[in-house]
Amino acid sequence: MQTRKVDIVVIGAGMAGLSFARTMQQHGREVLILERSRAVGGRCATWRHADLAMDYGVPFLHARSPLFWQTVDELLGADVLSGWPQRVQGNGPTCQPRALDPGVRHAALRGGLNTLAKKLAEGIEILRESEVTNLKTLQGSLQLSGANVSLSTQTLVLAGANAESLRLLQASDFGPSTAGAMALFGLAPTLPTLSLLACYETPPTQPDWELLLPETSASIQLISNESSKNAAGHKLCLCIQARPAWSRQRLNSSAEEWACDLLRETAMLLGDWMMKPDWQRPHRWLESRLDSASRLRGPLLYTLAGCQLGIIGEYFNPAGGLEGAFLSGRHLADLLKETT
Ligand SMILES: Cc1cc2nc3c(=O)[nH]c(=O)nc-3n(C[C@H](O)[C@H](O)[C@H](O)COP(=O)(O)OP(=O)(O)OC[C@H]3O[C@@H](n4cnc5c(N)ncnc54)[C@H](O)[C@@H]3O)c2cc1C
Repeated sequence: MQTRKVDIVVIGAGMAGLSFARTMQQHGREVLILERSRAVGGRCATWRHADLAMDYGVPFLHARSPLFWQTVDELLGADVLSGWPQRVQGNGPTCQPRALDPGVRHAALRGGLNTLAKKLAEGIEILRESEVTNLKTLQGSLQLSGANVSLSTQTLVLAGANAESLRLLQASDFGPSTAGAMALFGLAPTLPTLSLLACYETPPTQPDWELLLPETSASIQLISNESSKNAAGHKLCLCIQARPAWSRQRLNSSAEEWACDLLRETAMLLGDWMMKPDWQRPHRWLESRLDSASRLRGPLLYTLAGCQLGIIGEYFNPAGGLEGAFLSGRHLADLLKETT
C-alpha cells in the first residue's frame, strides 16, 4: 500500500475530532479524518427507524458555552428543539450532574443529535471504516497504519475516547515523550453504559414527561422519551440507560438477558405493558462517559521528531461531556492554527 502524505490527520470523527477538523479546514489547512466505524459522531449516536430518529448515546445537548450554541444554531436552526427536556420527572442524577442546572441551555435536535456531527463533517475528507492500529515516528514524520490505511503527517491528533487513545499510544514507538499522557489516561477510566431503545406502536397511555430520572432504581439511570423529539404520531419510543455500576456487572452477559432486566424494571416504574415493546435495540457502550470529577483544563500538545501530536476529547476541557469534547477540539485548533 502506498503511503499518502497529509498536512493534518485526525483519528476519530466524534465531536472533538470534528470540531477541530472543521476549524482547521476553515483556516485553510488540509485535514483528513480517519474513522473506525461507518458513521460519524461517535457517542453522539442516533438510530433511524421508519420515520423516527432516536438517540441512544448522549440524549440531549446541554452547555453553557456561547461558542457551542452559536455553532449549533448556525448549523441546525429550526431543527433545534430548545429547552428539551422541559418536562422532567424524578430527582435522580443526570449523566453529567450539572446538565439541568439553571443557566445551562439544553436542547434536542429534531433529526437526532447525530445530525450535528453530520453537519460538522460536511466538506471534510473522512475515511470511514479505517481503524488506525499503529503509530510510529519515521524520518521526521509521524506514520499511521491500520486496516486500509497508510499515511504520513507532520501533525497528528488523537480524538478517541480515553481508552482508545491510550491503546494507540501504547502501540506506538513514541516512548517516554508521551508517558505523562498515558499516566493521565490511567487516572480517568470511562464508565460503561448499557442502553436500550424500546418502541411501542400503540401504547395504552403516553408519559407526561420527556426525561425520567428515577431516584431509587438500582439499574436505570434515566429514560428519555425519544418520540417526544419527533412527530411520532401515537408511537412511543424510549431510550433506557442503565447505571454505570449495574452496566459494568453485565458487560459479559447476553444483551437479551440485560435488556429483559431493564424492561422488567421499566415495567415496575411505568406499567406492565412496558415488558413487551414492538421492537427493541440494545447497545453496549464500553466507554460512554467520564466520571465528572476527572477533567483537564485543555488539550495535550507534544513535539515528537519535529512533528506535532495533539490529544483532545471530553477529558480535555473542564466542561466535560459533549460540550467539553467540542471545546477541546476548538481549543487545540486555536493553538495550532497559526503554525504551518
Ligand atoms: C449512553 C451515553 C450517555 C451520555 N450522556 C451524556 C450526557 O448526558 N451529557 C454529556 O455531555 N455527555 C454524555 N455522554 C458523553 C458524550 O457522548 C461524549 O463525552 C462525547 O460525545 C465524546 O466525544 P469525543 O469526540 O470525545 O469521543 P467519541 O464520540 O467517542 O468519538 C471518538 C471517535 O473516534 C473513533 N476512533 C477511536 N479509536 C479509533 C481508531 N483507532 N481508529 C479510527 N477511529 C477511531 C471512534 O469510532 C469514535 O467515532 C454520553 C455518552 C453515552 C454513550
